[in-house]
Amino acid sequence: RCGFVAIVGRPNVGKSTLLNHVLGQKLSITSRKPQTTRHQILGIKTEGPVQAIYVDTPGMHEEEPRALNRYMNRTASAALKHVDVVVFVVDRHHWTPADEMVLNKLTHLTCPVILAVNKVDQIEKRETLLPVLESLATKREFADIIPMSALKEQNLAPLEEAVARYL
Ligand code: GDP
Ligand code: MG
Repeated sequence: RCGFVAIVGRPNVGKSTLLNHVLGQKLSITSRKPQTTRHQILGIKTEGPVQAIYVDTPGMHEEEPRALNRYMNRTASAALKHVDVVVFVVDRHHWTPADEMVLNKLTHLTCPVILAVNKVDQIEKRETLLPVLESLATKREFADIIPMSALKEQNLAPLEEAVARYL
């Protein structure tokens, strides 16, 4: 099985950290070049029969709807139609208007969207996590909701398994 995985989310939620740890290598962010017209390929993870091609989607991560970005924002949701699964990364304790903007771009997607609730290593009291997950679960229908820590490599395997289910 082989398929395209888009990692989306506002700046600073941990997308690059997640990719670096999933792919097990430092990605050269400055040197990556668009590989196709729709996506740039960030990395390919092959594990057994499953090959996940991680791609970036231009226009998905813009916080400001500036003139230049308006076109990109319009094409972003169109580009996402060509992926098999979307991983929407959020920070477990900050839901911001920028998250809302990314969420809005996912509105009409028919492919599964997995919610990755990152930075759970920062949680001091375990019991505070469940209410956060419950409130995030109301924002749209998610294929899975996975609390995780990209930095501390906590719960990355369940996330990758969830992704693999949709490839
Ligand atoms: P991006 O803008 O979404 O690509 O976010 P980055 O991957 O650049 O991460 C932004 C900041 O959050 C960096 O300082 C990371 O070290 C930090 N970060 C990312 N993942 C985690 C995590 O799981 N736990 C903690 N505590 N910090 C994280
Ligand atoms: Mg980044």
